Amino acid sequence: MTPAAGSGIKYAIEDAVVAANLLAAPLLAGRLRVENLAEVQRRRECPTRVIQAIGAFGLSRMGHSLRSGRQQTVPRFVRTLFGVRVFSKGVARMLAFGLWRVHVQGEPVERSADQSAVA
Ligand SMILES: Cc1cc2nc3c(=O)[nH]c(=O)nc-3n(C[C@H](O)[C@H](O)[C@H](O)COP(=O)(O)OP(=O)(O)OC[C@H]3O[C@@H](n4cnc5c(N)ncnc54)[C@H](O)[C@@H]3O)c2cc1C
Repeated sequence: MTPAAGSGIKYAIEDAVVAANLLAAPLLAGRLRVENLAEVQRRRECPTRVIQAIGAFGLSRMGHSLRSGRQQTVPRFVRTLFGVRVFSKGVARMLAFGLWRVHVQGEPVERSADQSAVA
């Protein structure tokens, strides 16, 4: 995961939230299956690939700039796009929150005495 823009830690937290949402019930019931894990991967793969592609693109542009020794300028069409408020706000929002937000679902679960002893 590229360290750019704090995306690594943000996606790690989102991964954890989605994993908790999908895996808590089967784990507590003692019937976790590979399919449950595959569902976590399925939900997280698209946003992860998108942010990785954006990060890789940014880093390759930066690397190209450093290797060439020439100062890179932001292309005019990009500057124009970022001049459009809806676009710039959308990009900022996507970088901050990902393609879509994830939230912890469900109520807190009381652990039984057996489960507490294991933790
Ligand atoms: C050099 C570097 C700099 C970075 N800088 C930034 C930054 O500035 N900002 C940012 O947002 N992100 C940054 N990142 C990325 C960020 O660290 C990661 O995206 C984030 O830590 C991923 O969290 P995770 O919980 O998914 O995985 P990890 O933090 O990798 O945690 C996985 C854990 O699982 C354990 N584990 C693995 N296999 C097993 C197993 N079989 N059994 C038991 N335990 C296992 C590992 O030991 C590890 O403790 C950086 C990464 C690197 C390498």
